[in-house]
Amino acid sequence: MTQRWTQFDQRPGTNPLDAECARTLAVLHVYVDLLRLGVDAPARHPRAAAHVVACDSCGRILQGIATAVREHDMRSSDL
Ligand SMILES: [Zn+2]
Repeated sequence: MTQRWTQFDQRPGTNPLDAECARTLAVLHVYVDLLRLGVDAPARHPRAAAHVVACDSCGRILQGIATAVREHDMRSSDL
């Protein structure tokens, strides 16, 4: 997997920010699951943690996924 992203980063004309966004989005669902389970997600994925703080787009996506998961969990607990 790491090799694949390295190749992606090196393609001519690839915007480094887009590559970092793609790398972050690929682990975001895992990141949210770790947060949900009370695991220190930033310690496990420090690169993604730094990126969601620096990138408004990815930060909003993280908040959206976290909100959706939280609402799903709340509805599931009501059953
Ligand atoms: Zn991003």
